[in-house]
Amino acid sequence: MNFGKFNELSTSVGGIGTQQSYSSVNAYDILAEISHVIDIVIQRNLSGDMIIDAIERMTAERKIEIKGIGTNRICIKLLADTRDLLNRMSFTDNTMPVVVKIPYNLSTGGKDNLREEFAYFYTKNLHVKNPDLISADRLSKLLPVTKKYDDYGFILIQEEIIPIENSEIVLAEIKNGNFSDASKASAVISAVVSNEALHLQMYDLVNYLDELFVIADLNVLFSRFNFGFKQIGNHHYLTVLDLGYALPKMFPRFEPKCPRCGQKLRYVNIADDYYNGGGLARKEKIKNKLISQGGFYSCKNENCSNSDINGNIVSSGGTDPFMKKDMDVFEQYAADVRTGYLYAERAEEVSDDLMRIF
Ligand SMILES: [Zn+2]
Repeated sequence: MNFGKFNELSTSVGGIGTQQSYSSVNAYDILAEISHVIDIVIQRNLSGDMIIDAIERMTAERKIEIKGIGTNRICIKLLADTRDLLNRMSFTDNTMPVVVKIPYNLSTGGKDNLREEFAYFYTKNLHVKNPDLISADRLSKLLPVTKKYDDYGFILIQEEIIPIENSEIVLAEIKNGNFSDASKASAVISAVVSNEALHLQMYDLVNYLDELFVIADLNVLFSRFNFGFKQIGNHHYLTVLDLGYALPKMFPRFEPKCPRCGQKLRYVNIADDYYNGGGLARKEKIKNKLISQGGFYSCKNENCSNSDINGNIVSSGGTDPFMKKDMDVFEQYAADVRTGYLYAERAEEVSDDLMRIF
């Protein structure tokens, strides 16, 4: 693996002695060791289990600590001084606690890493170009600082976020006696539903993301642990722990649309009018879908069932607005952009770098 400008840094930086709990190994050496294992897996076409084995061995050696294991990636913390590393990677605050995301499923997990980094810089750049765009302004501050360490994005360095289940607000919910420690997932839902400030933050966060990205896996009723809090100043703000399913809406002609009424599909959010505004029976129906099946998109057009693709009223249907699973909408958008870019007229100027996330 080519570490580019980081090559020269693999010398002694740790062991300064101010942080006694750290192992004597420095951050660069730990990352080099992980990178070496990934190299071997790629070169010899081995299973990602070898990466997990290495992570477990390094955990036993007190070089790292495992923070979480996802579908394609493992999230770890380096038990080493990271201040110099963060300096060299241009983090504005080199004392920021960070985690490292390593794919053990290299193709999909590597893509998740690249997407997260892209989302972070995309909202930052968009905010600079459009200072009045609220969604870009908010997301540029809310999303965790995210930078890839290597050219391929197999090692991602990211600002550490407090997982929602470990947040004071959810711990208070558990302590108030309504939930056992084992039902943290229910406590998360209860907090999001009953705490007005949190409810509002969830509404804003998902809507901002929905405005700028095609997203999946961001329905809190299903993906209960995919949220957390970022500290800004003395306050904590709701943010996303895993943004592996976010692709920028940079290709308007491929943006997901309702096949019945033609309106744009928007992410279904437990706080929005579509979810809450269609009567109790429908709300219950949508809620059950969101709990058991995952996230959904909908045109949220109350006249959808009796509209045609041009929005003309064609009959007096009695069915609900169109809904489609978020993963299906997401994969369709990615596939449409890939096909459009590779085989169609290439209307947009698209870099190969951008195509790596689709
Ligand atoms: Zn529709």
